[in-house]
Amino acid sequence: SDANQDVVASPSPSVSVFGSERRWADTTSYNTKKKLQAWFQLANGDWELGKIISTSGNESVITSEGKVLTVKSESLVPANPDILDGVEDLMQLSYLNEPSVLYDLQYRYNQDMIYTKAGPVLVAINPFKKVPLYGNDFIEAYRNKSTENPHVYAIADTAIREMIRDEVNQSIIISGESGAGKTETAKIAMQYLAALGGGSGIEYEILKTNPILEAFGNAKTLRNDNSSRFGKLIEINFSETGKISGARIQTYKLHLKSGNDYRYLKQSDCCSIDGVDDALNFHIVTKALDIVHVSREDQESVFAILAAVLWLGNVSFTVIDNENHVEPLADECLVTVAELIGCKVEELKLALSTRKMRVGHDTIIQKLTLSQTTDTRDALAKSIYACLFEWLVEQINKSLAVGKRRTGRSISILDIYGFESFERNSFEEFCINYANERLQQHFNRHLFKLEQEEYIQDGIDWTKVDFEDNKDCLNLYEKKPLGLLSLLDEESTFPNGTDLTFANKLKQHLQSNSCFRGDRGKAFTVSHYAGEVTYDTTAFLEKNRDLLHMDSIRLLSSCSCHLPQIFASNMLAQSEKHVVGPLHKSGGGDSQKLSVATKFKGQLFQLMKRLESTTPHFVRCIKPNNNQSPRSYNQGLVLQQLRCCGVLEVVRISRSGFPTRMTHQKFARRYGFLLLENTISQDPLGVSVAILHRFGILPEMYQVGYTKLFFRTGQIGMLEDTRNRTL
Ligand code: ADP
Ligand code: MG
Repeated sequence: SDANQDVVASPSPSVSVFGSERRWADTTSYNTKKKLQAWFQLANGDWELGKIISTSGNESVITSEGKVLTVKSESLVPANPDILDGVEDLMQLSYLNEPSVLYDLQYRYNQDMIYTKAGPVLVAINPFKKVPLYGNDFIEAYRNKSTENPHVYAIADTAIREMIRDEVNQSIIISGESGAGKTETAKIAMQYLAALGGGSGIEYEILKTNPILEAFGNAKTLRNDNSSRFGKLIEINFSETGKISGARIQTYKLHLKSGNDYRYLKQSDCCSIDGVDDALNFHIVTKALDIVHVSREDQESVFAILAAVLWLGNVSFTVIDNENHVEPLADECLVTVAELIGCKVEELKLALSTRKMRVGHDTIIQKLTLSQTTDTRDALAKSIYACLFEWLVEQINKSLAVGKRRTGRSISILDIYGFESFERNSFEEFCINYANERLQQHFNRHLFKLEQEEYIQDGIDWTKVDFEDNKDCLNLYEKKPLGLLSLLDEESTFPNGTDLTFANKLKQHLQSNSCFRGDRGKAFTVSHYAGEVTYDTTAFLEKNRDLLHMDSIRLLSSCSCHLPQIFASNMLAQSEKHVVGPLHKSGGGDSQKLSVATKFKGQLFQLMKRLESTTPHFVRCIKPNNNQSPRSYNQGLVLQQLRCCGVLEVVRISRSGFPTRMTHQKFARRYGFLLLENTISQDPLGVSVAILHRFGILPEMYQVGYTKLFFRTGQIGMLEDTRNRTL
């Protein structure tokens, strides 16, 4: 017998994201039996499939593509039987581990099947080429349910059906890294909704909003030629008959970076992209603006303001005294900006080079140094652009709201950044990851509810299922007064606050939270649901304080350009509403503004409130390589995203209860022959119980429901192995 040679394989901790023993439940029953397939890891970290020839001691001999290798048995990870190659849902894998998940996705991706289910979540891998999966024939197929292949269309279809059936608003939440395909995916979902809910003509307008938002809200970055620089929620309204009656777009400028991301177009040397016709795209945008009823005159003004932003970037300064104070050169740049936005050159000059401060009852005018004026100029340019963008979104919304009746239902599509973890993480990642922590909580709650419903329906003991919970991390961010956000705001208002004093405060007050770790110098680490991220607090305070000063705001609100409403309302409203933390004494107007983090949190809460009233559907986009090239699948890169967007976690959560379900009948039919007695005439439940006993499946590993048997992970894999060896 080869029983003595069996070695229980347990994967080395370094390859495990599942962490604890419990999570690897499906490998404990796995023996490195002869001829079984297993994954082994190459030096570069990639996984390769091998067949076990023999095992002795703690070493196994395996063959792989003609090679024969000896590896440590404990480094082998179980592979699934061939019949499970390319399953549509990762939940169907008998052995759930990283290499098996990677392989399944790659197997499908190689055949242009870019969509795969991970339990209730849709995983989409960016093909970086046209794939034959879209268009009317496909839309038809999903509409009449003649195909069950995972697809964004299927998600959109479910959303429409559930909206009508349950009379509940729906949301489609799309996340992923930059360049992973979120925006494309959102467009594909919109296409389907427009096709099914069309008729009024408004669906055409909705689709046309994309080129406008992309023209003004996207930029070429290293990772994505057409990267959205804003988060977006588009709400599509339906009448009772399921027809589109209107839409509304809300943007979350979550990724508002330093001015450099918007101006100085020449700095990054990426003004042209192969195969992109700028003139044609410009034409498409102006046509789209026509369609959403932005008049030609207003369009002119839009481009004038764009030009003003560019000119502003070129404004330069000259030193005027021996204290290094500067003022702008009154050259072509300054004059052009003043003309374009409609103010006096002198006013613009003052706004750029001085700051009014209130001290007691007096107002003093402070001159600025070069670095202060440059910051002021950049903040002004950024803000003009942001206001322009908001104004455009407003125009689009006005146009889409025509004929809209509030009584109907809606489907919202959220296109938002996923969890990010780089070598160096700053304020932007700090905010984005906070948002993702909230979205993850939303996701967990939803999953929990779905599972609970199914268990209760089949009479299963629900208390034996435990779920992940990220409330400690959310607490770390949100607790008042001793949480990351409160401490950041407090430090931002202190005149002597620096990034270092901020980091030290965190270490002083948050050490007791298990999700927090103070690091050396100015760094700290947060234990997020998707992994640990170390943040460098450099520039945290500066980025958190909104740099736009009251002087600039006053200047803009008094401008006489053609679109004064672009400036006036937005900025004054933003600046005077709230107060951040304790006002510091000489602060005057400057500190009476919301900090960036607080604004962010406010928007996030509004977003969550909207999402919580909907039935969510989740899509996780994955980028298979960093070169935007088709047919290239980088295992390490994919794995890292699967971890970060919680896909493995999702499957694991879905499986942490009793994920394998089989009706009594099916179970009895499939494994009944393994019993020694004849079972043909017996009732399926009786046979099922006999099988469970015969194979010594422990009571905590299964539950018997009214119609189905529920198993912990790995149990069926073991039965299948026995069945295969017997057949
Ligand atoms: P994100 O919004 O996540 O940053 P995008 O949606 O802009 O990423 O996608 C980046 C690029 O990837 C697109 O410009 C497109 O070329 C390609 N792409 C994404 N999804 C698809 C798809 N389903 N089919 C073909 N190409 C796609
Ligand atoms: Mg995008």
